Amino acid sequence: MRNIAFAVAAFATLPALAAYPEKPVTLVVPFAAGGPTDKVARDLAEVLRKGLHNQIVVIENVGGAGGTLGAAKVAKAAPDGYTLLLHHIGMATAPALYRNLPFKVLTDFEYLGMINEVPMTLVGRSSLPANNWAELRKWIDANKGKINLANAGLGAASHLCGLLFQQAMDVDMTTVPYKGTAPAMTDLLGGQVDLMCDQTTNTTGQIASGKIKAFAVTTSKRLSTPGLTNLPTLDESGLKGFNVTIWHGMYAPKGTPKAVIDTVNAALKAALKDPEFIKREEALGAVVVTDRRTDPVEHKKFVEAEIAKWGPAIKAAGQYAD
Ligand code: ASP
Repeated sequence: MRNIAFAVAAFATLPALAAYPEKPVTLVVPFAAGGPTDKVARDLAEVLRKGLHNQIVVIENVGGAGGTLGAAKVAKAAPDGYTLLLHHIGMATAPALYRNLPFKVLTDFEYLGMINEVPMTLVGRSSLPANNWAELRKWIDANKGKINLANAGLGAASHLCGLLFQQAMDVDMTTVPYKGTAPAMTDLLGGQVDLMCDQTTNTTGQIASGKIKAFAVTTSKRLSTPGLTNLPTLDESGLKGFNVTIWHGMYAPKGTPKAVIDTVNAALKAALKDPEFIKREEALGAVVVTDRRTDPVEHKKFVEAEIAKWGPAIKAAGQYAD
């Protein structure tokens, strides 16, 4: 009798796994709603569900501490496929920035595949007296010690870019951290902060409307995105070697069953081929990943390489938290 009960219980769990997901899936975005990471997550969620039995993918914004609060939440969540994480380059920079990071990037997560790569723009409030890079440089030199630089917290893409920018310019700015660059953008629009380095997915529309000023792009090549083609690179503008591109990927808590990982990865790969999704990403300057980094193994290898790449640069810039 006990054996029968055991067999029934064992079988009862099988269809549940095979049917994954059988309820909405929560996708944690470790930044505020309306920002660049949130935008990619919401666009992706719409197409992702097609590969997830049409279950709703619910976005949960857990902003704060440069993305590390949201990542920590997912690292500790039940490994059942119902709590996933969408995060960016912060996965690779946080280990160098935090002495006591509450999760281990390489061992506390299952890797689900990469999503996109996004250039950044150096933007400023519309009331700045400078109208181009040369004028901005002069304004920065004339206003040393008085300039505010917004970011989305220690570990955010805007933080990394701002850190490297200050180092390359050899100038210290007062950094103002927000829970994401969506609220930071609100303050930039209101003129409360002077400058910000942010992803094109968050700045393209505001630049086009003339509500903020754009001075340069952070990639090694100029962009072909409409509205951004005339912006110089920081590299050609005298900050030799400046090259920052942001990337996003998906993660699950360590121990998530292989069948779930395979299902989410297949749904992600299908979503990345969706023409509407590709079009929306491209219009905002982002490039959808199509190479082998959409495979979990290659995704993880890429993150390892990024940790090795950014760690020394961050330590050289001498900034970290506890
Ligand atoms: N990705 C952040 C956001 O969505 C911004 C950042 O990392 O700078 O707000």
